[in-house]
Amino acid sequence: MNFATKLLHGSNAIDGVTGASSIPIYQASTFHQFDIDQPNTFDYARSGNPTRQALEDAIAVLEGGTRGFAFASGMAAISSVFMLFSAGDHLVVAEDVYGGTYRFLTKVLSRMGIEVTFVDTTDLKAVEASILPTTRAIYLETPSNPTLKVTDIAGVCRLAQAQGVLTIVDNTFMTPYYQRPLELGADIVIHSATKFIGGHSDVVAGLVVTKEEELGNQLYMIQNGFGAILGVQDCWLVMRGLKTLKSRLDVSTKNAHKIAQWLDRHPLVEKVYYTGLTGHEGHAIQNRQSSGHGAVLSFDVGSREKVKAFFDAVQLPLVAVSLGSVESILSYPAMMSHAAMPQDEREKRGITDGLIRLSVGLEDVNDLLADFEQALAACARPQTLKRVGVK
Ligand SMILES: *Cc1c(COP(=O)(O)O)cnc(C)c1O
Repeated sequence: MNFATKLLHGSNAIDGVTGASSIPIYQASTFHQFDIDQPNTFDYARSGNPTRQALEDAIAVLEGGTRGFAFASGMAAISSVFMLFSAGDHLVVAEDVYGGTYRFLTKVLSRMGIEVTFVDTTDLKAVEASILPTTRAIYLETPSNPTLKVTDIAGVCRLAQAQGVLTIVDNTFMTPYYQRPLELGADIVIHSATKFIGGHSDVVAGLVVTKEEELGNQLYMIQNGFGAILGVQDCWLVMRGLKTLKSRLDVSTKNAHKIAQWLDRHPLVEKVYYTGLTGHEGHAIQNRQSSGHGAVLSFDVGSREKVKAFFDAVQLPLVAVSLGSVESILSYPAMMSHAAMPQDEREKRGITDGLIRLSVGLEDVNDLLADFEQALAACARPQTLKRVGVK
């Protein structure tokens, strides 16, 4: 079955009890046991609920894994996965990792005796050199945020497997439509389903898929034991979003490609980061390991003043912290996702005061281009020199 069909018919397309065309929301915390000698599949909703189960089965099928898990947020999913590890364990983590993940690793896990080395995972030699005898996992995010650096997933998995180390991939930016890390050798895939999978800026959710049953059993123990489960209403919203994942991404990726090429030619734009551009450093690896380049790109207009002028003038996109929705979303990494990072560290990573991230939505691309054209023209007008905030 091809991916588009799998989205609709891969698993749990129809309610097995009534034939309903969408899985019912089982708004129940507990389940009557008809015969205490023969326990039901479901007993208590933290441990399992048919609505959540349907979503968990669906994502497992789409990622090509054995077990799926739905959590209260992307961060609940990520934190729960890190609870697989114990004091004395060491993790190798991509240096461009999501800010919330960085915070959990450095502020929480560090207190529990779990050590982390942050490395540039696009450099396989650096990854190999950072593996210690106590290393238990390598944690990746590719393409990374916001400069879209590409890590060779299969290359990292080969290094990890040779050392008996797990590979964990945050696949939020690509979704299983474009990239399936388990097929490339990874052990665990994580999503913030708040982004492309939910797809409508109306739900916060996290998903995890394990390749092997045994790792799935360990994670189930943590999901049930820690309890950061996704509520049934939100499970239903995520399943609803999932049905149109391919159609949404086809349109927004096509739009992103066109916008990236247009920005790349624009005299007022200093640099564009999009893996779909042939000049992007990770272009070839991305083509090899993914079937698409996604809907997120970043571009540099040169200064904070110009960013301010651009954001003041732009009409259509939301200016917000998030991505992966039906509407286009602009964000300002220097003051939003990467505000906590020291300026020199930020600049070293290309996250300058002039960098803008764009998650492209489903608007007519010509309307977006016209809007960006007039907003860039506003950047070009003489700027006031005072330092200004961003709305
Ligand atoms: C948003 C995001 C997260 C965190 O997910 P939440 O649903 O906001 O908790 C993790 N990883 C990536 C790549 C993200 O974009």
